[in-house]
Amino acid sequence: MSTINWEQEVEKRKEELIATTQRFLQIDSVLDPDTAGEGAPFGEGVQAALQFALQTCEEAGMTIKNINGYAGHAEFGQGDECIGVLSHVDVVPPGDGWTIPPFAADIIEGKIIARGALDDKGPAMAAIFAAKIIKELGLPLQKRVRLIFGTDEESGWECVKRYFETEEMPTMGFTPDADFPLIYAEKGLTHLVLRQTSESFDQLTHKNRLDASQEGATQLLSFHAGMRVNMVPEIAEAELACHPEQAAAWTEAYQIYLEKGQRRGHITQTDKGVAFSLQGVSVHGMDPGKGVNAGAYLAKFLQNCDLDVRGRAFVDFIATYLFEQHDGATMGIKVEDQEMGPLTMNPGIFHYVAGEEVRFDLNIRYPHSILFEQWKPKLEQVASEHGYFLEIITHKKPHRVDPTHPLVTTLQRVYTERTGEKAELLAIGGGTYGRALDVGVAFGPLFPGRQDTAHQRDEYLLVEDLLKATAIYAQAIFELAKE
Ligand SMILES: [Zn+2]
Repeated sequence: MSTINWEQEVEKRKEELIATTQRFLQIDSVLDPDTAGEGAPFGEGVQAALQFALQTCEEAGMTIKNINGYAGHAEFGQGDECIGVLSHVDVVPPGDGWTIPPFAADIIEGKIIARGALDDKGPAMAAIFAAKIIKELGLPLQKRVRLIFGTDEESGWECVKRYFETEEMPTMGFTPDADFPLIYAEKGLTHLVLRQTSESFDQLTHKNRLDASQEGATQLLSFHAGMRVNMVPEIAEAELACHPEQAAAWTEAYQIYLEKGQRRGHITQTDKGVAFSLQGVSVHGMDPGKGVNAGAYLAKFLQNCDLDVRGRAFVDFIATYLFEQHDGATMGIKVEDQEMGPLTMNPGIFHYVAGEEVRFDLNIRYPHSILFEQWKPKLEQVASEHGYFLEIITHKKPHRVDPTHPLVTTLQRVYTERTGEKAELLAIGGGTYGRALDVGVAFGPLFPGRQDTAHQRDEYLLVEDLLKATAIYAQAIFELAKE
């Protein structure tokens, strides 16, 4: 059995693999609520892609099942245990600026260029052909293999939710929807909101015996920054009501603040007073220290302005707890573990309108050595001291498979045998589709050093990498299912 030449087996099927991948990519499988209906909850394009994947598997002799259009699977092999390979057939909208049409799937200079080439239809087809090779060679298996196809990975993950309500959870498995060598651990992910109503603030000021005599001369009318909780806000804007002389003084002070910090921004005088804007550097919220949070930097300046009580409390809260506080230290929730690194906090959305509700959206990612229940009360405590309620919008626990688990060690060994490279284990702050499996890791398809074009224009997968990944997946599925 050890004499199977996996690369050669892929090579024999190369033309068919490439042509089938191209046809798969030519189906526009962007979520489309307009064409959604019974059996096609995410639209006709997504459904056509699911059917294409299932049909390709059926033609290869696997048994298929479509779960009401939410997901589907193709199965072969025998035994009680089940090895899962989870991929998805939906893609994000292509956007503009492509050099060739995004659903043409042309091959240029060894690259298959198409929306979904890398994420995730190319690798899904690699997994299908990997399974096909095992079947065609008639290799004996002691377990069942199930290729599972999701249809809603790029938005709400309703597909896997619905799928696992009625379908079996594989004993173990992998998803070809991230990076090689192997991602075995992902931080816990939360979207939390701190909310303060006028009433909750009034109660607080009453308790703290603040009164109108402490009221500043300037009113903070509004403050906004950020659009998405998992991104560092790029732009912040604030409006103040004040006297014209005051506005002139701040214009000068703000210019100095911007110059000192080498930030870009504007200040303009308005009917009521002044309007500020500040430009930060937006990066992904999993690594907020790499960006510049526009909201935090604008609030820091506004601390100098003689604001009304609530406005001042708002900017002080930001300056104390959110300004350059990527690890939540002042919140008292800082924690770091050797394996997964530090807890990270990204204040992704700031919202303030005078007299209305104040809101911060936080994206906190935490390592597995601390429980959500351990740090959440600390955050809640700080929040309530400042008149905020903590609301949990989403919470996903850390996901981790023990590095000594046979799933991890087998995939590591296969990767090394097929590439000659050491298979370093990765722990990340992001989330992969692997967490939809109870015992699941992410395994490819992006090789180290390759450009990650997922979700970008001119997304591509090198033909060479498609073939290499297929050989790796074939051996991986066989080794996991053979005994
Ligand atoms: Zn994906």
